[in-house]
Amino acid sequence: MHKGKDAMGFIKARGLKFEYIQRDVDGNVDGVLTALDKVDLDIQPGQFVAVLGHNGSGKSTLAKHLNMLLQVEEGTLWIDGKDARDSANVWDVRQSAGMVFQNPDNQIVASVVEEDVAFGPENLGVPTGEIWKRVEKSLQSVGMAAYRKHSPNKLSGGQKQRVAIAGVMAMEPKCIVLDEPTAMLDPHGRQEVLEAVEALNQEKGITVILITHNMEEAVHADKAYVMDQGHVVMQGTPREIFSQVETLKNYRLDAPQAALLAHELRKEGLDLPEGILTRQELAEALCRLYDFGG
Ligand code: ADP
Repeated sequence: MHKGKDAMGFIKARGLKFEYIQRDVDGNVDGVLTALDKVDLDIQPGQFVAVLGHNGSGKSTLAKHLNMLLQVEEGTLWIDGKDARDSANVWDVRQSAGMVFQNPDNQIVASVVEEDVAFGPENLGVPTGEIWKRVEKSLQSVGMAAYRKHSPNKLSGGQKQRVAIAGVMAMEPKCIVLDEPTAMLDPHGRQEVLEAVEALNQEKGITVILITHNMEEAVHADKAYVMDQGHVVMQGTPREIFSQVETLKNYRLDAPQAALLAHELRKEGLDLPEGILTRQELAEALCRLYDFGG
């Protein structure tokens, strides 16, 4: 049955399964590890989607499918109307969904920031004049335009990661998949990168898939998936997911700090509403509680 692109959403996965063959030191097969099992995804254009999960839950394996770095073994996956099972679609899919990885140092290829950002569109065969327009635009969109002539080596981790994001943006993808882009950064760098990613989503309408094990980063997402042992075990809005503190604990995950504190206070008998996510919301709920009748 033929379905239109719009009906299908931007990313649609059904029953994705992926296994790694494990070998001993001599190269003999000594086991099979199921890294993805029965994974379904529905991501609409322009959504900000967080994928959460403990180490080893299958997040990276999933991310690599979205960019066709791994080939679909079982199930179906459609990205921007293209069938990811068909290896002929690899370049189209990579053009639609750009990828940013964890380690900023492994993603920098040139010795000057603007050349690094130009590398992607150059490889796509974009004409030179157009490349420089894109480089300028992309560096501006991540707040790094002032560093265009700098050497990437001298930048902080957060700045390098923003340059890597600009490099992906210069290829003008509709979607950007970020695999734990803040894991190696200090809190300041984390904040810089998160703000840049949120701006791309809100101001440019780029679909964002942010893989993270930092719960605070998922608070503003439109939708979150929680993975455990290769399965999607929870999905919903961050508010729906983070109000299930005990369930998250079973998957070795926390909720954001304010949600955890609200949960503890509720257990102590305080009449706080469900679904508190931010410090602001917690503060307001506490004020309401103590102002009541006052
Ligand atoms: P996450 O990103 O959530 O940490 P991964 O997708 O990296 O999870 O890994 C899922 C599982 O697959 C883990 O058990 C991991 O050890 C295993 N795995 C990942 N990559 C490989 C590989 N190249 N070969 C064998 N096993 C792998």
